[in-house]
Amino acid sequence: MNKLLLFAAPSGAGKTTIVHHLLDTFDELSFSISATTRPRRPHEKEGRDYYFISRERFEELIGQDAFVEWEEVYEGLFYGTLKSEVERLWAEGKHIIFDIDVKGAMNIKQAYPREALAVFVKPPSMAALEKRLTARRTEDETTLKKRLARAAEEMAYENKFDVVLVNDVLEKAFEKAEMIVRDFI
Ligand code: ADP
Ligand code: 5GP
Repeated sequence: MNKLLLFAAPSGAGKTTIVHHLLDTFDELSFSISATTRPRRPHEKEGRDYYFISRERFEELIGQDAFVEWEEVYEGLFYGTLKSEVERLWAEGKHIIFDIDVKGAMNIKQAYPREALAVFVKPPSMAALEKRLTARRTEDETTLKKRLARAAEEMAYENKFDVVLVNDVLEKAFEKAEMIVRDFI
């Protein structure tokens, strides 16, 4: 059976870093590339990190029922998993790994209860989260504030997840993540 590995976390907890490590470690995993209306960051690549699309195009796709799930994760910024993306990766016989917000993870888990494992990546503290987000240098003052406010809300979802992975020392978190994946696939 092809599995779905859902990695969710407050922004800055380190899920993208962990997901990339897992993709480098396990050949049988592929990344679900989401569609988003967020502007591309300098190091990001179209069709690798996201499908970067306009708000108009995003709304058109909603109208065509093209998404498994979508969310307005931040005010005015839309993110969604395309049905065509899941079908593409399953056709390749891969297990799919998602970097997704907490609500999106819950929605996919509900749609695929037997196939999905929901992993909550947790920062050691809110202070550490703020430090990481600042050090990443991708946010300005306004977006940093939005992300920290939302992070506080997202922390409340921890109990709904199958596994909680604390990301304190990165190397240890990598090892734990590898174990979680190995046990599940
Ligand atoms: P997310 O995808 O959850 O928003 P990222 O993977 O982008 O988070 O990580 C946020 C920042 O924190 C990045 O600059 C990353 O290099 C750094 N980071 C990730 N894990 C750790 C860790 N265990 N200790 C210190 N910094 C970390
Ligand atoms: P970022 O802008 O930092 O790349 O992502 C912001 C948030 O949106 C993260 O929590 C990320 O996991 C989430 N996200 C990315 N893709 C999707 C998606 O397809 N659906 C949902 N619901 N959230 C997503």
